[in-house]
Amino acid sequence: MTVALLGFAWDASSSYARGAALAPPVIRSLLFDEASSPYSLSGEDIREAISVYDFDPLPEEPGKARAAIEERTARVIDSGKAPLSLGGDHSITYPILRAVRDAHGPVNILHIDAHPDLYEEFGGDRYSHACPFARAIEDGCIGKLVQIGIRSAGPEQRAFSEKHGVIMLGADDLDRIPYDDLVAPLYVSVDLDGLDPAFAPGVSHPEPGGLSTRDVLSMLAKLRAAPIGADIVELNPTCDVHLATARVAARLVKELASAMTKNGRP
Ligand code: MN
Ligand code: MN
Repeated sequence: MTVALLGFAWDASSSYARGAALAPPVIRSLLFDEASSPYSLSGEDIREAISVYDFDPLPEEPGKARAAIEERTARVIDSGKAPLSLGGDHSITYPILRAVRDAHGPVNILHIDAHPDLYEEFGGDRYSHACPFARAIEDGCIGKLVQIGIRSAGPEQRAFSEKHGVIMLGADDLDRIPYDDLVAPLYVSVDLDGLDPAFAPGVSHPEPGGLSTRDVLSMLAKLRAAPIGADIVELNPTCDVHLATARVAARLVKELASAMTKNGRP
């Protein structure tokens, strides 16, 4: 299976700073620039792994934008490609997961983030970037949800997590990740603020005390199933420092694309 790289330039569901909508073309421009390698760490040529690029703009109205994200994701899956989506804020993951559910049923998810994103609503918006996994659970899109890097969970989100069997782990809990639960169909959602701001300063909601780039790469290498989809969200180029965070995102594109093309990998 090859990968379709989708760019969703959407940040109107961000609760604080805008800017994540600028991320997709920045990440794409770094993927195969002359300063970096086009190969994954395992040696796969990512120019061959990614066969489709869809960076069309989204409608401005939020409901129409979500519908477009869902429709474009479904179209990619129907064509036999695995969707690798670049945000945008984290709200894009909910419509993506609806399309993934329709094709694969409920998926198991590795969710890297400083925030659980399990609010019932945030700032009056049920589709805020603080809510996508609550919506996806309600809609039957998720089997097992494993969150790692969490360092901002209050009572409301902890209660939601317990009620729905979400495994919520901090940035110090790498040895507690239940890889046996992360079986096919597997989806990976990377919110770049799950990394420490030392590694990924270019995000709207930085929380010190997070994961290293190496932590995340090691996690991806330990997955026992090829992800059938993935997203990388919350890069805010207006907060970035010398493209540091964008380069992390580009590396993650390469590693995720490589993992997604390895069907049935052990
Ligand atoms: Mn998030
Ligand atoms: Mn976050």
